[in-house]
Amino acid sequence: MKHIFSKVLAVVIVAGLVACATSQGTQQETADVVIIGAGGAGLAAAMSAQQNGAKVIVLEKMERAGGNTVISGAAFNTADPARQALVSMNEANRRDIQTLTTKTPHNDFERELQQTVIEQFAAFRGPGLFDSPEWHALQTYNGGDYVAKPELVRTFTKNTLDTLEWLKSNGMGWQRDQDVIFTVLGALWPRSHRPQMPLGQGYITTSLGYAEAHKDDITIHYNTRATQLVVQNGRVTGVRATNVNTNKKSTYTATKGVIIATGGFGANIKLRQSYNTLAMDKGGWPNLDSAKTTNHPGATGDGLALAEKVGANLIGLEWLQLLPMGDPRTGSLSGNIEIGVEDRFFVNKNGDRFVNEGGRRDDMTKALFAQPDAWLWVICDKQSYPTPQHKNNFNESIEDLIAAGRAFEGNTLEELAEKIGVPAENLRRATEQFNAGVDAGSDSLGRTLWRIKIEQPPFYAGARIPTVHHTMGGIEINSNTQVLNKSGQVIPGLYAAGEVTGGIHGSNRLGGNALADAHTFGRIAGANAAAGQ
Ligand code: FAD
Repeated sequence: MKHIFSKVLAVVIVAGLVACATSQGTQQETADVVIIGAGGAGLAAAMSAQQNGAKVIVLEKMERAGGNTVISGAAFNTADPARQALVSMNEANRRDIQTLTTKTPHNDFERELQQTVIEQFAAFRGPGLFDSPEWHALQTYNGGDYVAKPELVRTFTKNTLDTLEWLKSNGMGWQRDQDVIFTVLGALWPRSHRPQMPLGQGYITTSLGYAEAHKDDITIHYNTRATQLVVQNGRVTGVRATNVNTNKKSTYTATKGVIIATGGFGANIKLRQSYNTLAMDKGGWPNLDSAKTTNHPGATGDGLALAEKVGANLIGLEWLQLLPMGDPRTGSLSGNIEIGVEDRFFVNKNGDRFVNEGGRRDDMTKALFAQPDAWLWVICDKQSYPTPQHKNNFNESIEDLIAAGRAFEGNTLEELAEKIGVPAENLRRATEQFNAGVDAGSDSLGRTLWRIKIEQPPFYAGARIPTVHHTMGGIEINSNTQVLNKSGQVIPGLYAAGEVTGGIHGSNRLGGNALADAHTFGRIAGANAAAGQ
């Protein structure tokens, strides 16, 4: 192989990380593990690789770490009996279990999950809400239309609680037990966990703090875009990268493994639309060229091209997730008045409810596209914001939202209806219909997640539109996070984790499953790459 680093001028060895500069100004560094992407998955992999004895280099193309993780709503799903003991279980929850465990199974994997959940639920004596890794797996597999890989779904839900505790052991704070569990949009079950810090800052602050405390072992290069994987004798042995400011080229050699953790491609308009067209016959989205996104600008799918060039198999790329929760001005998730799924409902511009607001994200967004101007109002009341200090997942109080013109307040439903321009009688009828559903535990739209009636003034409304949020497809991996080629064989030396991978969520990701996925598989990737497996 042609070697461009023949004239080495200097070699610096810092605790196992080797750096060489050449006369051409190019740079070469060596570590045990090289990770591409300093988001949730990449930084989890860095901590885990270091804990398993590796020296680590992380390459990040942006000027700071975090990717989508740091701007996320931070919800982390795991079955967690101790903390869910404080959540009450109702008839509608029981019916959900009954429905999924008695339907005709799609295959042996689903049959086994159903059987296990039936046994677990029969033995469940409380307290609180039933949950288990198998129930989480059954909802994940069913909620993604059975196109996920069973081994990945199983590995995912079996390891999420350990991952949460591991993050905690690395310094990440979670809310107090009585506030920690909620249901994020599209999660289908109250198993979302809330970190102490707002947005996704807890994940990234924790891992950057860890990297700083272990700076002899973990080096992060910012503004450094990975452009190519180096392959020697069939094994991935490094990464070529370019500094986006200086255009300086570098090669990072990995003696044990390279991990791709570059995130999804929700911000790459061309790529997402080209894959969207593949799904047209399977009920794909309308043209997404002008659709807004919740994603950070670096979510462009670079890792897919890097992996494909070395023969990796890419799967499920046509599965794009849109949310019915975009800010009409920006498409972002912030500015949302919603706090928990149970405590609000949606109306369209006519003031009518139109969908099960506790359902799947794809179903809700498809229903929204069919409404006038594809526009909805989220409706909640004082119970979502009991005190001025109360904040949504994006650290915004109701006063902040009202001041920014993102929420409207009415002391009566009529006053609120006038402010948002919907017929007052329809908003009142929708509210009564919702409150009757709380009493009955069911309604004609099929909603199963209920908690409180919307009846305590002031009432609040916030506008939302469809927005591109997540890409479920990506690099095919096995449960050790090793990247597979088109024949299903492992590509030696190459691992992937996080939103860049496919096969975990199927056609529709449950809300709150992505951060749990990124950190669980990031952690597994770090350990396996450090072992040079
Ligand atoms: P990221 O965190 O995006 O990190 C990837 C990193 O790789 C980025 O820093 C990127 O700049 C870098 N990179 C890309 N290409 C290169 C390259 N060529 N070279 C070097 N670096 C590169 N999920 C949940 O489970 N719960 C939630 O509450 C939730 N809320 C969300 C809210 C928002 C607004 C968004 C956008 C997403 C949300 N998600 C949520 C989804 C979840 O945040 C993401 O799926 C997850 O953070 C992805 O983690 P990741 O590490 O794979 O990617």
